[in-house]
Amino acid sequence: MYFCLCCGYQTLYEKPPGTYFVCPICFWTDVDLDSWTRFELRKAQLNYVHQGASNKEWLAQVRPPTKQDYRHPQWKLLDTKIREDGTKVKNLIITAFNDVHREDGISLHESDLTMYIINYNGPPSFFRYDSSCHRQLLADARAKDVETHWKDIPTQTLEKFIFLSSLSHYLDKKGWKYYLPAYLVWSLNKYIYNRWHNECFIDVVNSFILKDTHYPLNYEIEDFEFFSRDEYLAILSSEQLSAICQFLHFGLTYEWIDEVYKKNIKNFIQDYCPTI
Ligand SMILES: [Zn+2]
Repeated sequence: MYFCLCCGYQTLYEKPPGTYFVCPICFWTDVDLDSWTRFELRKAQLNYVHQGASNKEWLAQVRPPTKQDYRHPQWKLLDTKIREDGTKVKNLIITAFNDVHREDGISLHESDLTMYIINYNGPPSFFRYDSSCHRQLLADARAKDVETHWKDIPTQTLEKFIFLSSLSHYLDKKGWKYYLPAYLVWSLNKYIYNRWHNECFIDVVNSFILKDTHYPLNYEIEDFEFFSRDEYLAILSSEQLSAICQFLHFGLTYEWIDEVYKKNIKNFIQDYCPTI
């Protein structure tokens, strides 16, 4: 007999998930677990604990556990595990990046405008930065980002830019290092405080961690510079790299990720933090 993923009692005749067996104690149907159903399970468990059934419409069908029912000794709400693990990873990031300030690094609005300028002028290799026309526009954009510590960046600002896949292309190393922890914590908060499907994990990973190339504008040479991912990662301390890998590990554990991304993320952890 196997344990029900929702209530934790030993009620399944086949190994979950995906048996489609309905548990008689909580009435959870043992579906395959993907990102959607994992969050359904999180809610179903809370329903079971607070209301007595995985969904209140099944209250008449469920039966209470008896002395003969055996519950897995380590059973814990998925909600509790996500909050505990998510908070641990969040604290690692906050500690590792606590002293990071933006200084003269490129800001989000500035980076975003760079992208528009490029779109009007062609790809970076053909682009010439026109100081007379662009410098004031970029300075105005930069003035919109007033905070100097990443913990103070308004959520609305982070959310305004995260869905731009080229977001971190145009942040220089200082800007990238400054916005990276803000986005990692923002994504974790989605898990910790929202009992809902989290679509932003992969966006953050793609934009900030797995991105192969960066093209920040260098005002001194009035052109873009090219940097590889390794050159950006090289500015992080081992504590900061380790915090990023713990963040990735958390995502691998709780988020549904397609096989290609999963492989890339595992390779990243293997390359940069093999001890995790
Ligand atoms: Zn159950």
